[in-house]
Amino acid sequence: MADDEFDLFVIGGGSGGVRASRLAANLGLKVGIAEEFRLGGTCVIRGCIPKKLMVFASDYANKFSESEGFGWQLKSPSFSWVKFSNSMRSEIDRLEDVYKNILSSSGVEIFKQKATIHSKSSVILDDGVIYKAKYILLATGGTPSKLKIKGEKLAITSNEIFALRSLPKTLTIIGGGYIACEFASIFNGLGTKVTLVYRGEMILRGFDHDIRDQVDRVMRSNGVVIKNNTEIISIDKVEDSLAVDFSNGDKQFSEQVLLAVGRQARTEGLGLDRVNMCLTKSGAIQVDEFQKTSVASIYAVGDITDRFNLTPVAIRDAAAFVKTVFEGERTPSDHHLIPTAVFTRPEVGTVGLTEEEAKASHRTKTFKTLFSPMGNRLSKKAEKVFMKLLVCSDSDKVLGCHMVGEGASEIIQVFGIAIKMGAKKSDLDATCAVHPTLAEELVTLS
Ligand code: NDP
Repeated sequence: MADDEFDLFVIGGGSGGVRASRLAANLGLKVGIAEEFRLGGTCVIRGCIPKKLMVFASDYANKFSESEGFGWQLKSPSFSWVKFSNSMRSEIDRLEDVYKNILSSSGVEIFKQKATIHSKSSVILDDGVIYKAKYILLATGGTPSKLKIKGEKLAITSNEIFALRSLPKTLTIIGGGYIACEFASIFNGLGTKVTLVYRGEMILRGFDHDIRDQVDRVMRSNGVVIKNNTEIISIDKVEDSLAVDFSNGDKQFSEQVLLAVGRQARTEGLGLDRVNMCLTKSGAIQVDEFQKTSVASIYAVGDITDRFNLTPVAIRDAAAFVKTVFEGERTPSDHHLIPTAVFTRPEVGTVGLTEEEAKASHRTKTFKTLFSPMGNRLSKKAEKVFMKLLVCSDSDKVLGCHMVGEGASEIIQVFGIAIKMGAKKSDLDATCAVHPTLAEELVTLS
């Protein structure tokens, strides 16, 4: 047992863990953090950030062709996966350094190894050293779910996709959620022939039905083959290809298979049994509104709690944890009205209730529009923008806002403020439009 006692020991150096460590250290507390892989976690190393860089790379394909309508002439542009991957890797390395420096300059002691719970008030590192800690924060995130089918190991997950050595000519994606749909759009844009295979009726379950319909329609017209109501049975290697067998008897050959069938809390091997930690039905760490687990000295934030598995939520929960535990200000996590985006092409931005949810709980007025953005005439792009507002007939409050199309993620971030402040439809009507923009439609809907 080491002599040192930490005020806080954080296990997991992703978005939530890093934020909590830094904030606690800035209060003058003695803080340690252990990360067995790379600082930055899923978001920075193999999630949001590299994914968005891929989205940017993929978007150029259309921009080149669209520019012709505006008078540009280009000799056939070509894309180098290797060059792009190298640039992406350098950027990730840079960000990892930024994270490391933020922690070091705040005085957080970094342990680049695995740590597990040793007792209610101590952790043990891989090298066998035990550290006492007044509080332990679990922030190890999540990991891609497995399917337990024959040949599963032949497929990749979002953990491996950023490290592909070459751009696959053909890609089969299993799943119909955020990750499946985003990578379908990205690789389709980069020139890969993509087949997305989903077990349900329509991709993006849980989103507003019009949003799902619009994304499905445009993704198909962009060239993604979508097969609904299809379950995967097995994967086999056949010469240079992977052959995927489906429940309906179909077989699909492709160079790569991406499994994007959800994520689960990363709790394995954390030593939870040593403290009889209570878990949720899905195997995540059970926490109360203050991020406290069933063990009074142990807290958890982020995807390991499997609530809203989004980086900004983990960061906010980490800040709320520090305020509650170290600043004496009991701060519950606020998970109401979380705006979110899906970086498909077309992009989705959404906040609040879906039409189905709104109608089940309120007398609801629906306002929607489907229109061609101004630039599309010249670029000869057929894609339209869809917007929908759900308004309570009794209070006039906006209950939900859903968008598909260019800029949806940016617009919904700002609209999230309005809806959080309790905006009414009359407030939107009273707001002057900015012309000519896409977002002005939101204040002129009638
Ligand atoms: P999601 O939960 O979004 O989607 C999982 C998909 O896999 C669903 O379509 C689900 O089908 C399907 N599925 C689940 N089990 C099986 C099975 N046994 N066989 C076939 N299909 C199956 O998970 P993702 O992995 O896409 O993403 C994980 C989380 O990460 C997201 O929920 C989100 O919180 C976060 N994320 C956020 C992003 C963003 O903010 N832009 C981007 C990427 C991830 P069904 O619908 O029928 O259940």
